[in-house]
Amino acid sequence: MARADFVFEELKHLESIHQRRVLKSLEHGNAHEISYQGRTLVNFSSNDYLGLASHPRVKAAAQAAIEQFHASAASSRLICGNLAIHERLESRLAHFKQREAALVFSSGYLANLGILTALTGENDQVFSDALNHASIVDGCRLSRARIFVYRHLDLNHLESLLRGAPAARRRLLVSDAVFSMDGDVADLPGLAALAAAHDCLLMLDEAHATGVLGSTGRGIAEHFAERGQMAPGKECVDLAMGTLSKALGSFGGFVACSSQLREFLINKARSFIFSTALPPSAAGAALESLQLIGEEPFRREALWKNLYDLKGRLGASGFDVTASETPILPVTFGEEATALRMSERLVERGCFVPAIRPPSVPKGTSRLRITLSASHSSEDVVGLAKGLSELAEDGG
Ligand SMILES: *Cc1c(COP(=O)(O)O)cnc(C)c1O
Repeated sequence: MARADFVFEELKHLESIHQRRVLKSLEHGNAHEISYQGRTLVNFSSNDYLGLASHPRVKAAAQAAIEQFHASAASSRLICGNLAIHERLESRLAHFKQREAALVFSSGYLANLGILTALTGENDQVFSDALNHASIVDGCRLSRARIFVYRHLDLNHLESLLRGAPAARRRLLVSDAVFSMDGDVADLPGLAALAAAHDCLLMLDEAHATGVLGSTGRGIAEHFAERGQMAPGKECVDLAMGTLSKALGSFGGFVACSSQLREFLINKARSFIFSTALPPSAAGAALESLQLIGEEPFRREALWKNLYDLKGRLGASGFDVTASETPILPVTFGEEATALRMSERLVERGCFVPAIRPPSVPKGTSRLRITLSASHSSEDVVGLAKGLSELAEDGG
């Protein structure tokens, strides 16, 4: 057998179980629409929730940053890549998250890898929600800590794992703030109470919460403070990780934390130490987006209006969309082939909604994953709701 035959065999296997993935070549795309195979489709798959990636001021800020700091930082932060624009971005992020400090990584994925491996090792324990993002799962694995996975959002299960675990050097509890495939929100007050009672550092991944949750987009702590479920400004989250790549319309990852934790990560997080600093253009774009999140609250308002409108319409057509509380709206079909067919039939109706299959979601929960943006119009939302309910009626 030729050495590389397994490659062909495994691809064929993925094909046979409807899990082979292919890249779609888009001629053009933004938060509102994409052009694909010569057609323009309304885009219900972008993470650019506020439409900031195509905002003229954000694009101009990226260009200005290139003029001043060039196209590359040309080295890691600890060598000669630590530019004024990185430090300005970090102090803006710290202010935005109302924390002492922030540290920027080259992506959200790398932030999770770096944070988890820096803080925990062989003699430590990590408690992790079963549906946490793959970058958290990978960070846990790389850390070599003992991992306790609790059932999704099940704090009773988490508590019993915490009680049953042997003594450890360090403990860390980690959860997505908004779960990326389901759109549901972690119970921050509950997590914070358990972390405090069981001596765990608490880390939240706010990739889909930043710019989206809370009346000023500051994320999950603001969300619960405004519901009266947490004291505002109380620092119960030790590490508020987030990404610049979603609602901030740029690229890169960050963590907001204490100044000491920032220092610690600069010294210990290998994905920070051994990777080139964030490109100045990405830092410039993110800085402008942070400014716009404050100046243009109508964007977040439009996003939530679109969500309530779509949920109302889908609910009225008999879809179960109650679990999601955010602009990520899964419509679950179970079978891979059904979800794929639904996605293809929506393309015929001018809507781009990707089918999400294992390993991105558990087996038997293949789904369409709708994400909404402030850039969608009411007509876009009506069109999607109509398309989905017609498909459901004629059995897909
Ligand atoms: C997208 C995402 C990441 C990774 O962020 P990038 O900046 O795209 O690398 C991490 N965690 C969650 C929950 C995400 O959805």
